[in-house]
Amino acid sequence: MTDTDADTIIKFDKVVKRFDSFTVIDELDFEVKRGEKVTIIGPSGSGKSTVLRILMTLEPISGGVVYVDGDTLWHEKGSDGQLRPASERHLRKMREKMGMVFQQFNLFPHMSVRRNLTEAPIQVLGMPKAEARQRADELLEMVGLTQHADKYPHQLSGGQQQRVGIARALAMRPKIMLFDEPTSALDPELVGEVLNVIRRLAEEHDLTMLLVTHEMNFARQISDRVCFFDRGKVLEQGKPEDLFTNPKEERTREFLKAVL
Ligand code: ADP
Ligand code: MG
Repeated sequence: MTDTDADTIIKFDKVVKRFDSFTVIDELDFEVKRGEKVTIIGPSGSGKSTVLRILMTLEPISGGVVYVDGDTLWHEKGSDGQLRPASERHLRKMREKMGMVFQQFNLFPHMSVRRNLTEAPIQVLGMPKAEARQRADELLEMVGLTQHADKYPHQLSGGQQQRVGIARALAMRPKIMLFDEPTSALDPELVGEVLNVIRRLAEEHDLTMLLVTHEMNFARQISDRVCFFDRGKVLEQGKPEDLFTNPKEERTREFLKAVL
């Protein structure tokens, strides 16, 4: 069911998402190229999180087609008219292509930091324990948390927990990383350490990144492209230097004036 060219890793084709009669995503057309770093900005309620949740298969859609890595995410209409994955197996296969980092860190509270990183690779991917552990330790070093490997999430600061969240997502070796306001729940002095980790990831050529953030300076630095979402559509998009300095749409201008 391939209907995207090889360069395209994510494609929304006229995607609609309704909650009851309320349309949150409105015939959205949206594409991300392999290795591209794309930031989504826009007002609260414009559908940014819903787009990431649809990709992560946490939300079914009401219409249209979503392609990830050359395959469709949703196949079947349920009795409620929503499109669903054809099988659990397909859903798992598609989900494994993506790692998601949430605003609330969503770590496993009863597991050590290291086990937060090894659990899914062992249980889901069937990775040998020693290999999962070695990979976890490499990732913890990358996010600067080697000395905290045996602690539990509640013993860490918010910034440290979010760095564990990023490492945990990377432990599954995803092709695509999705970030939904990864620094919004943090005290201001802890934001930088998390952005630095994401900045380092953005330098990885092969990794595709889709990031929702209100950190406009950061978005400007790391993005290949910035998309302004408004009422479930991409109202305007472009290179960060163009969109931030010379927005074409009045609503984009208003939004940027309020947040910059
Ligand atoms: P954003 O991330 O841009 O702030 P969201 O994607 O979270 O926006 O939400 C878009 C709209 O969809 C909002 O109006 C929100 O209230 C609504 N919405 C999101 N999830 C649900 C849900 N599970 N049930 C009903 N409405 C929802
Ligand atoms: Mg949101």
